[in-house]
Amino acid sequence: MAYRITDGCVKCGCCELVCPNHAIREGEGTYVINPDRCTECVGAYRSSKCAEICPVEVPGPDPGRVEGREALLHKWRSLHAGETSRSS
Ligand code: SF4
Repeated sequence: MAYRITDGCVKCGCCELVCPNHAIREGEGTYVINPDRCTECVGAYRSSKCAEICPVEVPGPDPGRVEGREALLHKWRSLHAGETSRSS
């Protein structure tokens, strides 16, 4: 499932820098994750980089966007045509 950033974001911006899919942008009052670009880092890494680097631990799975690993990998491939997955 895609990740989302919940209340408590301190807008440090570190998540935007580590996202392999350019899914994170600064919004009004918080950073936001584009669910159409978030693959839980599947395809690039074995763990979710935004969640790892966040100092206040606000990125987390969005229960409203449940997707299996194959769907996430398919999304990653559509975003990175011609690239080879590093996490499968
Ligand atoms: Fe980007 Fe990975 Fe966070 Fe999704 S989980 S927004 S792909 S860094």
